[in-house]
Amino acid sequence: MLIVQKYGGTSVADIDRIKAVAGCVVKTVKEGHKVVVVVSAMAGETDKLINLAHQVSSNPSEREMDLLLSSGERVTSALTAMAIEELGHKAMALTGRQMGIYTDAVHTKARIEKITTERAKKALDEGYIIVVAGFQGVTEAEDVTTLGRGGSDLSAVAIASALNADLCEIYTDVDGVYTADPNIVPGARKLDKISYEEMLELASLGAKVLQTRSVEFAIKYEVPVVVRSSFSDNPGTLVTKEDEDMENVVVSGAAYDKNQAKITVMGVPDKPGIAAKLFKGIADANIVVDMIVQNISSDGKATDISFTVPKTDSKKTLKLTEGIVKELEARGVALREDIAKVSIVGVGMRTHSGVAAEMFDTLAKHGINIIAISTSEIKVSCLIDVKYAELAVRILHDAFELSTDFAKRI
Ligand code: ASP
Ligand code: MG
Repeated sequence: MLIVQKYGGTSVADIDRIKAVAGCVVKTVKEGHKVVVVVSAMAGETDKLINLAHQVSSNPSEREMDLLLSSGERVTSALTAMAIEELGHKAMALTGRQMGIYTDAVHTKARIEKITTERAKKALDEGYIIVVAGFQGVTEAEDVTTLGRGGSDLSAVAIASALNADLCEIYTDVDGVYTADPNIVPGARKLDKISYEEMLELASLGAKVLQTRSVEFAIKYEVPVVVRSSFSDNPGTLVTKEDEDMENVVVSGAAYDKNQAKITVMGVPDKPGIAAKLFKGIADANIVVDMIVQNISSDGKATDISFTVPKTDSKKTLKLTEGIVKELEARGVALREDIAKVSIVGVGMRTHSGVAAEMFDTLAKHGINIIAISTSEIKVSCLIDVKYAELAVRILHDAFELSTDFAKRI
């Protein structure tokens, strides 16, 4: 098999860890596989570099920022290759550019456009273990780019796809994907497998196991991904296409997101064009709106529109919205930041009814007020007071019996 193994920052945090990773890679090779390794920077290194940049400039240019940040991964790729050679195997470290990862020119969050694989394939044929510096690529004009925070996951999935690898293993410091954050829910259970779609929902909910864009990429190109720990031999969680087993499980996970803020535009006239005007302005400012709730006015006159945006964009959105209050003929705008979005996710929701009702009932029993609701085919989310976020995840985990393996329950 050809296996792409990605090691995150904590897995290459120091020299001992890098040596341990080298051992793990060599073990896989000895089992008869070809391996391409993708490494992150040492834990904390990217933050350290960002901090240095802000010490010399209040507004560092994004092009230079990318060159700076890409260095963290170069260090670990070279050191890991050396550690592998020390164990008696041929290894070759490659930067993103040397790996042929071409991106667009959107610095600090570039998108991969193509990967040229000739060099990597030749090296693999010659018996080299390739160690790629994650998180980076190069533009057609030969400027170094980075792929957004957590971008080494994307490097790994994209390389696996380009090389037609049999498997992409993401090594991290947790041993897989859980039904909820085990730090919050003691009974949280590790899942053996999860569908791409569920993983995408959970990733965007802030379950930080995989970068969201890497999951989108894995879906698009059907790359089988395994999330597992580099600190244990636990087999991890397979992220893959939906199957029948998965559909039998109504809810696979519960999570919260505390990074949203709610904006309410009060007393807008109930007539065509208001929402269009409001959300056009916000979209033009590149702000991503998540939930939207508009009340139906009972008297045909004024109504409220509430919506959520990432907390980092809340002040900007407030200003923007206040700026068009007159134009919207609204009474005013209010911002609320002490909120959290709790969600339950599961592909089985497509074929089972009553899931949302049970969620609302569970929250109600504990006196938790629901501020807004949104649903998709495989997710129900409720906006609640932030102080209940942990409690809500715990009681939902309980209500849907997520601690018990469904296969063992029937
Ligand atoms: N080192 C980068 C970061 O901290 C990329 C990664 O680790 O995936 O975001
Ligand atoms: Mg990561």
